Amino acid sequence: MTVVKLINSLFEDAVQMNASDIHIEPDEKVLRIRQRIDGNLQETLLKESGIASALVLRLKLMSELDISEKRLPQDGRFHIKVRKMNIDVRLSTLPVEHGEAVVMRLLNQSAGLLSLDQVGMPNDMLRRFRSQLHRPYGMILVTGPTGSGKTTTLYGALNELNIPDKKILTAEDPVEYRLPRVSQVQINNKVGLTFSNALRTFLRQDPDIILVGEMRDSETAEIGLRASMTGHLVLSTLHTNNAIDSALRLVDMEAPGYLVASAVKAVLAQRLVKRNCTECSEPEPVSSHHKVWLDSQYPAYSQQRFTKGKGCQTCNHTGYKGRIGVFELLEVTPELADALRANDHNTFTRLAQQQKGYRSLVDSALAMAVSGQTSLEQAISLSESAPLLDELEGNF
Ligand SMILES: [Zn+2]
Repeated sequence: MTVVKLINSLFEDAVQMNASDIHIEPDEKVLRIRQRIDGNLQETLLKESGIASALVLRLKLMSELDISEKRLPQDGRFHIKVRKMNIDVRLSTLPVEHGEAVVMRLLNQSAGLLSLDQVGMPNDMLRRFRSQLHRPYGMILVTGPTGSGKTTTLYGALNELNIPDKKILTAEDPVEYRLPRVSQVQINNKVGLTFSNALRTFLRQDPDIILVGEMRDSETAEIGLRASMTGHLVLSTLHTNNAIDSALRLVDMEAPGYLVASAVKAVLAQRLVKRNCTECSEPEPVSSHHKVWLDSQYPAYSQQRFTKGKGCQTCNHTGYKGRIGVFELLEVTPELADALRANDHNTFTRLAQQQKGYRSLVDSALAMAVSGQTSLEQAISLSESAPLLDELEGNF
């Protein structure tokens, strides 16, 4: 097979399987190609290792990288049309033992955005989140690790806010979807266009709504917080585990407590869990250590029944098909703001947990498991205390 044909079939496969990333990994004797589908890597084909260098060379040409440089990592991007779909590809190379490894992130511009109704938020939470979005100013944070669906939710929110009388500016890395009427800025650290620089300029562009892709440093956080205090609605993300930790994390990033207290209006934490395959779901037995865990941590669920796919052709014998969002929404009330201002972590956490309508991520996921949307196993995987149980498993 020629290299061009190989590349075409790689992208055809990836688009068909709805893969988010393609990994090209030259090994001593083989070329390993893996795709990330629904968050998991799947090995798709092995070729003679000889084709690896030609393949990588071609991909580097496509992304206008320096082909003579093989000893240093490089990154670039290119567009490719697959089945009439425009795919934006971000490529990163890494020199490894047997050549250069390449990872490509696929951003499908044609896939269409999900509306907020489609991200999987329960109705009552969606209603609360929407009313926060329609505030004239303040900061709303969406938090979670990479790959937790934050961007999808934020685009859903922006899409809803995107009306002719609102000026929206975004600073993103990468710009994943183009939105009509929105001025989207691709962050480029190489030329000095950082999140903080973009944000500073935004304030001179008379926006109503600003989206900052990520608050990586205290400078960006502080400008964002100040912007949200001066008549702008600011949306951003943080890499924190849950909603309660996020407000506290901002204070840890040296943002003054009084500023966080006045600016942050709501925090939405998000994860993705695998969705049970509807074709092969059956009752899921609860193992003894999961029972112990439920009894101690979530007794309300210890008598519940759960379901899980046993695996069939539809779900590629995994028992799961697609993923669904799990959410935790914290609204910053005056009492919570006071606790932040006083830098009182304990009171903040206690009040947050007692808030009407508040449900932790694990609690929300367990409720989804009871309704059959996901498995108990998936719900438990969101808990920070879960890994301990896996270690114990051998001792039971
Ligand atoms: Zn199935």
